[in-house]
Amino acid sequence: MHFKTRITLWFSAVLLLVFAVLFFMVTLINNAVLQQNVKGTLIKTVNSNLLDVEFSLTQQQPEEGTEYIAYGSGYIIIDRRFLKIESGVYSSLYSPNGALLYGENPVVDVSPVFSDGVIKEAGNSHGVKYYVFDRMTESGLWLRGVISEEESRGLVWNTTKLILLVFPLAALIAVAGGYRIASHFTAPINEIRRKADKISKGDDLSERIPVTRNDETGKLSQSFNLMFERLEKNFEREKRFNRDVSHELRTPISVISAEAEYGLDRERSADEYREILKTILEKSGELTEITQSLLTLSRLESTGEKPEMSPLSLKDAMEAALKQTPPAASKNIEVKWQSSEDVSVIGNEPLLIRLFSNLISNAYKYGRENGCVSLSIKKEDGKAVAEVADDGIGVPEEECEKIFDRFYRAENAGKTGGSGIGLAIVKEIAALHGADIKCISGKGKGSVFVLTMDAI
Ligand code: ADP
Repeated sequence: MHFKTRITLWFSAVLLLVFAVLFFMVTLINNAVLQQNVKGTLIKTVNSNLLDVEFSLTQQQPEEGTEYIAYGSGYIIIDRRFLKIESGVYSSLYSPNGALLYGENPVVDVSPVFSDGVIKEAGNSHGVKYYVFDRMTESGLWLRGVISEEESRGLVWNTTKLILLVFPLAALIAVAGGYRIASHFTAPINEIRRKADKISKGDDLSERIPVTRNDETGKLSQSFNLMFERLEKNFEREKRFNRDVSHELRTPISVISAEAEYGLDRERSADEYREILKTILEKSGELTEITQSLLTLSRLESTGEKPEMSPLSLKDAMEAALKQTPPAASKNIEVKWQSSEDVSVIGNEPLLIRLFSNLISNAYKYGRENGCVSLSIKKEDGKAVAEVADDGIGVPEEECEKIFDRFYRAENAGKTGGSGIGLAIVKEIAALHGADIKCISGKGKGSVFVLTMDAI
């Protein structure tokens, strides 16, 4: 069932329930009020009869045309208004001993026990309920007023009929209102859905859902946009990874196949085969390294989420990196510690080891034969500073920033093997730690790589 239909149904059901409860309560209140009203009318009519209607006891026979009845030694004069049934009240006049002198009493079997100013209830043989109210006149006669309870029932029924007539209209309004409200609230959601569908079906992941409201739907659009942003990043990353892999692996693969073809070309000496196999082995090692570096870089760039960080010693990380990266024996490079303060930082240990190991292996690779690689960890102005320096070929000053770009190799890197990914990884790891990495160098002057990050 559609969301809109569900809202409409729920809204209508709740509204109709509220309406039914209200109807029930109104009927109850109405009933009580009308009953009070009926009793009030009874009291009012009887009291006004007592004051307005003349019941005078006289010795003389009254004039013609006047209502009178013989009573005791004289006559009772009664105003004609007395007989009129006003607002459903039947009036009657009784002698002090309960004999009906005048008027009507619809409750034949009501016991003529009189009590001044008290409302009593009585019922007749037809099951009709009556209210009875008595007052004593000055001359000691009883004036009785009787009203049927149905007077109030009739009015309650009239109100009920009215409400029942209004009910279908109310139901109609509830459904129409519910539909209107549902449409109002589902319209932006539908709009988001349409836009999201369009973006996910189309090629352009850079498109975004416009955020026009500052409510839940606005937040939903923002969440969608965030999701599209991450999808776009991941998609881009994957595209770049595929492009990089095919680009970077092409050279070693073509060298490997060329070497193999060369070896199979004709019968060769054992030494020649050994040379060919050595090259193939070297190039396949390169292949593994490039693939792994690209994977690392791609993973680092991927989520944008921070890796797990914890307090660690920067010196320990550098020492671990040093252990993992032995210098090439042929170059006879000496490793020296300039400064090795025990500075703690918040970081991800494997990633920081990877960063240092990339810097150290570059220092060996581009360092001078019989040269020196110096390491240093110190605290400066509250910051942790780590340095890896060598006295090798250096980096031309104007290229010192560019070498951190992926695949960038300095003009003087020459024949030294490499792919230009190592420093891009270093830069990415530094960024994840909110750290700064720079290269201070000049052509032929050796290089110093400086990492600066918050110390704790
Ligand atoms: P790779 O060493 O595989 O080429 P890197 O990303 O590690 O890739 O380095 C990028 C470039 O920066 C290198 O090609 C080199 O030109 C330069 N470079 C890096 N480290 C040094 C260093 N210690 N001394 C001189 N040049 C360096």
